[in-house]
Amino acid sequence: MSGRAVITVTGPVPEEELGFCQSHEHLFIAKGRSFEENPALWMDDVSKIRQEAARYRRAGGGTLVDAQPVGCGRMCQNLRGISLRSGVHILAATGFHKLRFYPPDHWLFSLSEDALTSLFLHELTHGMYDGCDGAPPGAEDTGIRAGLIKTALDACGLTAGYARLFAAAAAAAVEAGRALMVHIEAGSRPMALLRFLLDRGVPPERIIFCHTDRACADPGVRRDLAAAGIFLELDTIGRFHYHSDQEEADIFLDLLDAGFQRQLLFSLDTTRTRLKCFHPQAVGLDYLLSVFLPLLRSRGVSQEQLALISHHNFVSAFHA
Ligand SMILES: [Zn+2]
Repeated sequence: MSGRAVITVTGPVPEEELGFCQSHEHLFIAKGRSFEENPALWMDDVSKIRQEAARYRRAGGGTLVDAQPVGCGRMCQNLRGISLRSGVHILAATGFHKLRFYPPDHWLFSLSEDALTSLFLHELTHGMYDGCDGAPPGAEDTGIRAGLIKTALDACGLTAGYARLFAAAAAAAVEAGRALMVHIEAGSRPMALLRFLLDRGVPPERIIFCHTDRACADPGVRRDLAAAGIFLELDTIGRFHYHSDQEEADIFLDLLDAGFQRQLLFSLDTTRTRLKCFHPQAVGLDYLLSVFLPLLRSRGVSQEQLALISHHNFVSAFHA
C-alpha cells in the first residue's frame, strides 16, 4: 500500500477504495447565471441525480470529480448527500470558472489576488462555502473540503482578469500541494497558460488540462502539452456534434502510441442534456464503462493501459 489518498466530500479516501474514476463530471449546478448562459447548466433535482449516481455505481463506477468551482452554482451539501447514499466517491472543486458564469458584481471580481489564494486554500483545507454564489467574504464554511482546484480559460486567452485568478489558483495549488485542473477551449492558447503556471512553480504532474481532445485541433499541440509532463483529460466522448467515438479513440491511440499512457485521464463532462435521469435517450454517466471502454478494447488498448487511465493516473493527479 502506497498510502496515497484523495480528499472527497465525505473525507479522505485511500486509493485502494476509489475503483474506476472519471475525472470531470457535473452532478449538480444550482439555477443561476450558468443557466442563463446555457439551460443545460442547471441540475438540482436530488432524486434524479441519485438515480444517475446509482446507475454509475451499478455499471462499476467508483469515483468521480464534480468540476463546478465555488461561486457559480456548486452544491457541495448535495454532493455529500449523494455520495453517502450511492457509495460513489466524489471530489468537489474550489477555484473559478469562465468569467461569463458570474454576474458583474460578483465578489470574485473584488477580492485581491492574496484574498483569492486564501479563499481557495480555506476551501481545500477547512471547508467549502455553500450557496449558488459561494457567499464569501465572511460566510461560514460547510466543513466539507474541496479535493482540487478547478479553473477555466476562455477563448480570449490569458487576459488581465484571468491572469489575476490563475496566479491566485497557482499559489494555492503550490501551497496545498493539490491538483490544478484547467478548462481550455479552442483558441485559448494553452501553451501560454502552461508556461504561466510552470513559472509560478506549479509542478507539471499536478496540472490537468481538460477538453484537450476537442480544444486542440492540432494533435501536435496535445503531444507538446503531454511532453511538458502534465495530465491531458480526454472528455469529448459520446458528443457526436464534435466528433465520433471512433475519432475519439484515434486521439487516445495517438497519445498512447507516443508513450503518454501515464498522463491520460478520461471523463464525460456531463450536463443536464447528457444525463439519462433527465433525458432517457442521453448517453448517461455509465457511458464510458458500458460503451466507450469496450470500444477502446476493440481498438487494441490493453487492460493495463485502461487501468492506468481509469485509476492509477487519477490517483497520481488528485492525491492530497
Ligand atoms: Zn465541465
